Amino acid sequence: MRKMWINSREVSGAQPPRTALDPATEEGIGEFAWGNRREAEEAVAAAKAAFPAWRNTPASERAAMLHEVARRMRQNLEALATELTLETGRSIRKNRGYVEWSAQCFDYYAEIGRHYRGRIIPSPEVSQLSVVLKVPLGVIAAIVPWNYPLLLLTWKIAPALAAGNTVVVKPATYTSWVTLGFARYFEHFPPGVINILTGSGVEVGDYLVTHPDVRMIAFTGSTAVGQHIMRQAAAEMKHIHLELGGKDPLIVCADADIEAAARAAVWGGFLNAGQVCTSVERVYVEQEVYLTLLERIVDLTRQLVIGPGIDPESEVTPMIRHEEREKVDYQVKMAEKAGASILTGGGVPPDKHKGFYYAPTVLSEVDENMLVMQEETFGPVLPVAPVNDFDEAMERANRSPYGLGATLFTTEARKVKRYMETIEAGNVWVNDPLIDNLAGPFGGMKRSGIGRELGMEGFEEFLETKHVHWDIEGGIKNWWFPWE
Ligand code: NDP
Repeated sequence: MRKMWINSREVSGAQPPRTALDPATEEGIGEFAWGNRREAEEAVAAAKAAFPAWRNTPASERAAMLHEVARRMRQNLEALATELTLETGRSIRKNRGYVEWSAQCFDYYAEIGRHYRGRIIPSPEVSQLSVVLKVPLGVIAAIVPWNYPLLLLTWKIAPALAAGNTVVVKPATYTSWVTLGFARYFEHFPPGVINILTGSGVEVGDYLVTHPDVRMIAFTGSTAVGQHIMRQAAAEMKHIHLELGGKDPLIVCADADIEAAARAAVWGGFLNAGQVCTSVERVYVEQEVYLTLLERIVDLTRQLVIGPGIDPESEVTPMIRHEEREKVDYQVKMAEKAGASILTGGGVPPDKHKGFYYAPTVLSEVDENMLVMQEETFGPVLPVAPVNDFDEAMERANRSPYGLGATLFTTEARKVKRYMETIEAGNVWVNDPLIDNLAGPFGGMKRSGIGRELGMEGFEEFLETKHVHWDIEGGIKNWWFPWE
């Protein structure tokens, strides 16, 4: 059984253990300890006690420990990628890449942490020194979803630890087993600096969010839970960082490379069975090329290999659970009832009796009132709609309350300029969707979240700013009522 990691000790907890499931077989892959408030309290106390010493640890020593995490991950790359595939269902090929990417993230923030502490700004007089000082916040609660359990955690804990904070991690229930396995990459840290808990979101998650000793909640998950966290955090004015859901549009102009746009739509819509926060969830195509693009999308979709993530040939892997698949199917069936056409897919693939598979689905004849065009689907469904022109595509793209990512396919610079300035999304792609860069900030606008991960912005999130004004010579200045 995998245990929780609290204060550098393995903790079983008093509750009965749970069984982790493989979404491709629906069978158990291992047991894990299940926590509650008692372990959460223990973890926060350990993180609080560890904070003063960790904050004062030289940045170079913290950096060395973060580089060591990266080294251990690379050393165990194949085993870690396999475990990620077993519990998330996603492709082993992609998971190998994500382990390497996570290791790079630790290396990146190790170096940022060594080089940044604030800045000195000009003062009115030479005897004065004005310093913008950046200090760590304290205990950070990192709460993450199941779709990218390692990567999304890394984006939080690497900058948080590099900045001098201590961390309590709460993974999603569905990916607790693999996350508890990460403890071995942090064994060289002082006790209490990083703690990994399990337990339900409503109990352990909520407890962390409202705990007075937790200074910040770094959260990735659904918009509904993000809104709840924001309300809960208000009482203590906690720092919050929220990476939430999306309904990303892909706009294809008639002047674009249509083959590239079709491939991008299929890849962006069906990668990880559509369970990506920046999945392509709506396609708007200029009328002149609509039928050509639609036919090509359907053609490419029918060629996709549906299978378990552990098989490197699989392109569309299972969804995480039957319940999530049901939600996706509901949106598809409601759209069909309201007049949409299912061009391919639209249910469980006929040969997949085991595993939570859903066939990659392409819809046409969709309108903006349908749930599938309004709410995040988070499954392998691609609704494609014609538009009269670029203006209409932009207006419909921005009509959504979400603003996480957006993609434009065009060869016209003036359209790119207008799009990049006015599209309401934090991650803006042109002719190349879903690309992240460690040095580039990632995050959403509107109901897709607050704050940014990655880049310098993702480091600043874990720091508090102080403005220090110091008169080095001292003595009486003009603040002593000289006019009286
Ligand atoms: P949820 O919001 O349901 O859960 C996310 C995490 O929050 C889980 O660890 C969950 O625990 C926990 N949680 C649930 N309720 C509470 C609560 N009341 N207080 C504190 N924590 C709580 O999301 P999903 O796990 O279903 O993930 C899918 C969502 O994540 C999608 O909406 C997707 O768009 C979004 N996402 C956003 C990304 C981004 O970068 N913007 C990236 C990836 C996903 P438990 O599992 O135990 O319920």
